[in-house]
Amino acid sequence: MSTTMPIPRLIHLDDYISVLGEPEVAELRALAARLHGRTVQMVNSTAVGGGVAEILNRLVPILQELGLAIRWDVIRGGSDFFEITKAFHNALHGGSYDMPPESFDVFLGYNEQNLGRLQMEGEFTVIHDPQPVALIKARADRWGHWIWRCHIDLSRPNPTVWKFLEPWVDRYDGTIFSSPEFSRQLSIPQYLFYPCIDPLAEKNRELEPEFVRAVLERFQIDPGRPILTQISRFDRLKDPVGVVRAYRLVKRYFDCQLVLAGGGASDDPEGEAVLAEVREVAQGDTDIHILNLPPWSATEINALQRGSTIVIQKSLREGFGLTVTEALWKRKPVVASAVGGIPAQVIHKHTGMLAHSVEGAAYQIRFLLSNPAIATKLAEQGHEHVREHFLITSNAKRYLTLFLHLAGSF
Ligand code: UDP
Repeated sequence: MSTTMPIPRLIHLDDYISVLGEPEVAELRALAARLHGRTVQMVNSTAVGGGVAEILNRLVPILQELGLAIRWDVIRGGSDFFEITKAFHNALHGGSYDMPPESFDVFLGYNEQNLGRLQMEGEFTVIHDPQPVALIKARADRWGHWIWRCHIDLSRPNPTVWKFLEPWVDRYDGTIFSSPEFSRQLSIPQYLFYPCIDPLAEKNRELEPEFVRAVLERFQIDPGRPILTQISRFDRLKDPVGVVRAYRLVKRYFDCQLVLAGGGASDDPEGEAVLAEVREVAQGDTDIHILNLPPWSATEINALQRGSTIVIQKSLREGFGLTVTEALWKRKPVVASAVGGIPAQVIHKHTGMLAHSVEGAAYQIRFLLSNPAIATKLAEQGHEHVREHFLITSNAKRYLTLFLHLAGSF
């Protein structure tokens, strides 16, 4: 019913010294020494696709190398389960909830099934997002510390779904949110952890310019003309159709191209329909490249981001928006919506440009295309902002500090 994930390829901690400096890595080791051999279990609902899987794929091996006995489990469910959890997701972001009342029982039934298969015995258990929230039932004897790590913006949740989830969340020892604005009034402690990227992962590592060029050419993208790119799952909340509209407004003034690249996540059943909508809207324009990428496309995504003139993230709602972090790290000028965690990353006119509409996004893109020196400066500042706040090593440090605090070692 559930899958224990193989621990992904290890990048050694010492490799981070070149990016972060020796003291940062030494600090991690010092903190982890006090947790050597302690058991940690991470649980989420997909191994690939989406930001949570992206983070766990790197965080888990780092904590393992630091000496923690960590395991990562992915729950499983039928398509009915993932339709419900996707409806939860949309509703928690403020949308309506149109599933029948029995959906809550179906949801709990799948959690129960996963509970039957999973070994839940870590000293520190971190449950990611709503899909596995009811696994907290496993903590019958109150041994161990249970944390609910919420990656979603819960500031305006649909009341029906939140009323169902809240009693489950309340049973945890604490929650982690990605931004102060995302949190709810709860009876348990709340912690702030910014999400993060791994600068050494395939998705973010430096690439040779020739390789970037070859990838663009493979997708028939012209490296000689401006390239606007949005990387995202094909999801309505990422507003790919809005991106096409913004591009069309820019296209009146600049001979640019648009790349919409994404794939599906195994816990997202809506992708196909959204992809079809986007294809229809883009029909007939050979400068729009819609790339439906398989999950093993990290290097291609890296190259597409690096090859872009401007990276767009025109989400209508967003968790944190790791695609923005990735673009800023690659020193790309970014135009993004002021939603979710994006304003923590894109500080308007300092690390990028924020927009609130199709017209606003088009305006900011035109501004940056007309002012390349300003675009370069924003991009450089964006890179430094990510280095300071949003790298995987900061995230690992936050987890270690939290575990020490929970264990009463501080
Ligand atoms: N991503 C990917 N393949 C795709 C689309 C996205 O690997 O086809 C990655 C993207 O590079 C980023 C993550 O998935 O690392 C998306 O995280 P984000 O927080 O932007 O959005 P989410 O999908 O979690 O809503």
